[in-house]
Amino acid sequence: MIDVISFLPGKRKQTASGWISFNAPCCVHRGDNQDKRQRGGIKPSPDGSWSYHCFNCGYTASFVLGRNLTFKARKLLEWLNVPQEEIERINLESLKHKSIEGLLGERQEIVNRLQNIEFEDRDLPADTQPLNQAGQAYLLSRRLHLDYPFFYKTMPRPGVVIPFTHNNQVVGHTTRFLDDRTPKYIQDIQPGYVFGTDLQGADWQRVIVVEGVFDALSISGLAVLHAEINDAQVRLIRSLGRDVIVVPDQDEAGMRLVDRAVELGWSVSMPNWPAGVKDVNDAVIRWGRMATVITIMQARETSKIKIELRKKQLVKQWKNINA
Ligand SMILES: [Zn+2]
Repeated sequence: MIDVISFLPGKRKQTASGWISFNAPCCVHRGDNQDKRQRGGIKPSPDGSWSYHCFNCGYTASFVLGRNLTFKARKLLEWLNVPQEEIERINLESLKHKSIEGLLGERQEIVNRLQNIEFEDRDLPADTQPLNQAGQAYLLSRRLHLDYPFFYKTMPRPGVVIPFTHNNQVVGHTTRFLDDRTPKYIQDIQPGYVFGTDLQGADWQRVIVVEGVFDALSISGLAVLHAEINDAQVRLIRSLGRDVIVVPDQDEAGMRLVDRAVELGWSVSMPNWPAGVKDVNDAVIRWGRMATVITIMQARETSKIKIELRKKQLVKQWKNINA
């Protein structure tokens, strides 16, 4: 058993949301002042996996049982004064727990590397804080499950921070600001990144591709994060080996996504949503997750002609509304 807690400083406290906080060991190694306010947080899982986030300098690292220790997780253990032999022992111990899923994950990583689908680890913004009530209320109003590792920040404006992960490592983030000012979002996104691969079940046959991060979180889909799908994103989506259904936002920009999906030979779903329901998250807010997924599956089209017809129908509807 790998018990990360035994390596933590003696002075620590447990929070209600499952974080164990202690003075962060990372900041001094990254040009920041020594943390004295217990702003390092680790969230352990029952199986021995854990994720770490520093609420002072923004350093993040995580460890998944059955996988090799990542570079950033090794660094963190070093900074916690874990001896090198002990770090190697943890790594070996972890690999003893390698499961079929872990092996498949590794095979996927090799495939990805060959196809150049790799992202560098990134930190979250330095002023990131644990999710607070304002953030929770916002996410619940959008009918999202709070089991995703959301964070909060106040500077320069209050907002919910959504880490972008790939293979359970943080590789970017987006912040959705909660005031009414623009821009609504700021993002740290790497080229070719697709949000939501970590939300997919190992045995799922299909994957739903949407535009926005909240749409993807609503139904465990993938988000391409804008109204286009670039070639690197196509490679990543194809590498999952699943049947792809694209669900565009029902607006003009969304129709570009439809053209792209047709070009790629992917199926498209444009459910018959009433005015005011423009995207998947709007639909989930109104009808819930299950009903929304059912309407998406029912409206799924593979025929190019039928997709074109449906698109024309939608465009005509908007013209009538605007006329
Ligand atoms: Zn730090």
